[in-house]
Amino acid sequence: MSVEPSLDQIRTVADNVQVHKFGGSSLADAFCYRRVARIVTEYAGASDVVVVSAAGDTTNRILAIIKAQRESGDTADILLDQLERFQQGLITELLGTEFASPLLEQSTIDFQRFRDFVSGEEHIEHEAELLSYGELWSARLLAALLRKQGTKAEHIDARDFLKAEDAPEPIIQELESRHNLLNRVAPFPGTRFIVTGFIARGLQGESLTLGRNGSDYSATLVGSLLNSKQVTIWKDVAGVYSADPRKIERVVSLPTLDWSEAEELARLGSPVLHPRTFQPVDRDRMVISVRSSLKVENQQTRIGNFEHTEPKGKVFTSLSEVVLFKVELNDRELVKQLEALDLTPLVSWTEPEKHQQYLVFHQNHLNYISQWLERIKAGNAVTQIHGYSMVALVGNRIQETDQYNTFKLQLDDQQVRRFAVSEDGCSAVAILEQKLDNRLLNRLHSQLFNYRRSLGVLVIGRGNIGTAWLDLFRQQRDRINQVMDVRVIGIANSKKLWLDYSGVELNDWQAGFDRLSRPYVLTELLRELPNAPYDELVMIDLTDAKPVAQLYPSLFANGLHIISANKRAGSAEESLYREIRTIQHEYKREWLYNTTVGAGLPLNYAINDLRGSGDEIRSISGIFSGTMSWLFENFTDGVKFSDLVLEAKKRGYSEPDPREDLSCQDLVRKLLILAREIGLNLDWEDISVSSLVPESLRDISASEFLERAEELDEPMDHMLKEAAKEGNVPRLLASFSVSEEGRVSAKIGVEYIPAGDMLANLIPGENIFVIYTDWYSEMPLVISGPGAGKHVTAGGVQSDLNQLLAKLTVTG
Ligand code: ASP
Ligand code: MG
Repeated sequence: MSVEPSLDQIRTVADNVQVHKFGGSSLADAFCYRRVARIVTEYAGASDVVVVSAAGDTTNRILAIIKAQRESGDTADILLDQLERFQQGLITELLGTEFASPLLEQSTIDFQRFRDFVSGEEHIEHEAELLSYGELWSARLLAALLRKQGTKAEHIDARDFLKAEDAPEPIIQELESRHNLLNRVAPFPGTRFIVTGFIARGLQGESLTLGRNGSDYSATLVGSLLNSKQVTIWKDVAGVYSADPRKIERVVSLPTLDWSEAEELARLGSPVLHPRTFQPVDRDRMVISVRSSLKVENQQTRIGNFEHTEPKGKVFTSLSEVVLFKVELNDRELVKQLEALDLTPLVSWTEPEKHQQYLVFHQNHLNYISQWLERIKAGNAVTQIHGYSMVALVGNRIQETDQYNTFKLQLDDQQVRRFAVSEDGCSAVAILEQKLDNRLLNRLHSQLFNYRRSLGVLVIGRGNIGTAWLDLFRQQRDRINQVMDVRVIGIANSKKLWLDYSGVELNDWQAGFDRLSRPYVLTELLRELPNAPYDELVMIDLTDAKPVAQLYPSLFANGLHIISANKRAGSAEESLYREIRTIQHEYKREWLYNTTVGAGLPLNYAINDLRGSGDEIRSISGIFSGTMSWLFENFTDGVKFSDLVLEAKKRGYSEPDPREDLSCQDLVRKLLILAREIGLNLDWEDISVSSLVPESLRDISASEFLERAEELDEPMDHMLKEAAKEGNVPRLLASFSVSEEGRVSAKIGVEYIPAGDMLANLIPGENIFVIYTDWYSEMPLVISGPGAGKHVTAGGVQSDLNQLLAKLTVTG
C-alpha cells in the first residue's frame, strides 16, 4: 500500500486535516465510546485524524498485571481476566454479534499473548510492548464502531509510522515519521483515521511509550507531522480552568491561553496537558483547542498566539509535594554536570554566601534525579529535603498584574521558602515549607480570581421590555463590569433559548437569537445551569407567565437569583408565595421586583428605606394602573368609554384582553405585592374588588368582548353623571390600610373624588401612590409619574440589577 503521496495530496492534508484527541476517561465505557463516535462524525471533518488513549484505566491495569507477574500467586491471572472481560465487553456491547467477531478473534489472540507472558512462556523485554495494546484496542474498536455506523474509518498503530530514539523523552525521527504517516493518510481523503496515542517504535524495532498521559503529545506530534492547523483535545472538563476544579471551587474557564502560558503550566506540573504537548507545535500555524466531550456546547480554551492580550494571572496551580536539592557549589565537577542535566527545575537559586545552590523538582521526577545522581556519583554533595510544596500563578507578564501583588501579599503569613518569577516572566512561583490544604488553595484562588466576581444573566422574555433592557445593559456594561464581570449568557422566549456560557453577543442580538436559539425546556435548563462557569447567576423574568413563576422555588434551589418584572410570583396565592419565600431564604438567594409595581418609579426603595429607618407604613392608596389612569383621565362628558378601551388596546396601553385591566386583576396583583412588601399577610380573597366588566361581558371570548365593548358605555356614563352631581369625577382607586390594632383592609374600586383633587388631575397614564406613615401622617408622601412604558421599566430592571450587584459584592 506504499503509494508515495503527491505534493498536492500533502498540501491538501495540511490544509484540511485536523487532529482530535480523546483520552482514557472519554472512552471509559460503551456509552462514552458512542459519545466519542458521535463527536467524531459530527465535529470532525471527513478526513480528520483521531488520536486515542487506552480505554478507561487500561494502562494502569496493564501495569498492574506486569507488576503482579513478577510476584508469585494468581493475581496476574485475575487481573488479566478482568481486563479481558472489560475489553471484550466493550466490543460486544458496541458492535453486536455481527460486527464483533473479527475484533473478538483478534482480542483473543492478544490476550493469549498476555497469558503467555504471565505464565512465563513468552519473555517480553519492553513493558511498552504490552502497554501498547491498551491504545491499540481502543483505536481498533473506535474505527470498527464508526464503520458500523456507516462512517469510513480505519485504525493506525502509531508504531507503524512514528519512529523515535529511546530516551527519557524519546527523540522523534521527524522526517521518517512524517514520510510514513503521509504515505498512510494522504492517499485516502474521506477516511477518518484513528491513531493510537502514547506509543511509538524505537530504532531497534522495539515498542516505546511517550510517557504517562503521553497521548496529548501524540496528538500534537501527529498534527505537526501532518502540518495541520488545529488539534482539538477533547476532555471530560470544559477546557482549561483558573485552577484544578477537583480541588478548587468557583474556578473559571479560560477562553484563551498563550503558548508560553500553557507551556509554563505544563512545566509546573499542572495536570491539564502533558508537558511535551507543545514541543512539536508550529506556533504560528497551529492552535490547540481544549474542549469538553461531555458538553460540546460549552466554552473551549484555545491555546495559540495570544501573547498580546492584556496581562492577566490566568491559572493558579499547585504541587502538594516538591523536593529540594541542596548542592554544594564547591564541587566544580558537579556544577558542570548540573548544567548538563536535561530536566529544568521548577525553581532554582543560589545562596552565594553559603556556596550552595537549591534546585526544586516535582516529586514525580525524584526517581529520575536519584538515578542521575547515582550515575554521576555525586550523592555526597547533594542533600534531598522533603516537606515542601509549591503554589504558582501563571500568566504572561505576571508582574504587571494586580494579582501578582495580591499573591505576594496573601503569602505573607505562609512559610515561604522562596518566591520567584520565572525567567520569561510568565509565572510567579512560591515554594512553601508546609503542607497544602484545599482551604488554603481555595482562599488563594478566590483572592486571586474573584476580586471581580462573575454574574451570568439569563433573560426570559424578549418582548418590548427585554429589548429595551438589553439595549440599556449593552450601554451600561462597561461601568457595570468594573464591579463584577456581568454577562448575558442566555436569552429566551417561551419556546426558544440562545445559550452561550461565554456571553451572547449583544450587538444585533436579534439576529444571533434567530440563528442560534434552540427549543428548550426551562426545567431541563435549570439542571444544566449550575455548570455555567459563573460565581453567581440571575434570571431576569420579563414574562407574564405563571408557569415561570411556579418555577421560582426550583430556580432558587438551583442557585439562581431572580429579578422579576413578572407579577405572577409576587402576587401568587399565599401557598405558592410562602414556598417561594421559604426556598429563597433557605438558599440565601436575592429576589428583586421593583418594576412589578409602578414600573420604574422608586416606590419600593422609598418604602423600604422608610421602614429600614424606623417608620411604619399606615396606608397606601392611589392609582396604580397606567391603563386605568389613561382611561379615566380621558373619560369626560361626550366621550364613549368603549372607544377609549378600543383605543387603549390599539396603542398597546392595555393588556391584549382589556378585561384583564377592567376587571382589576392587574391591580389586585400590585396591591398584593405592595402589601406583602411591607410584611402584611394578604391573600386574594382579602381584597374587595369591584370589576368594571358587566356580568354579561365576562364569560365570552376576547374578540366577542371587543365587538360588544359598547355595552360598557351605559353603566360608565351613569357613573360619570352620578359623580358630576356633586362636582366629582370617578377614578379607579386601590388602597390598603393598617389600623392601630394591625388589621388590614384592602379594596379596589371606583370612587368619586372632587374634580380639583390631585388624583383627578393626572396626566393620562400617570400613576400615583399616596403613602401615609407614622412620620408622614399630616401630609402624605406622594410618588407619581409614569407607571408603565418600556424605557422606565427597563430602567427599573437595571436598577434591580444594580441592587443585586451591590448585595453580591458586599456579601461575597
Ligand atoms: N494510556 C496512557 C496513560 O494512561 C496514555 C494517555 O492516557 O495519554 O498514561
Ligand atoms: Mg490517561
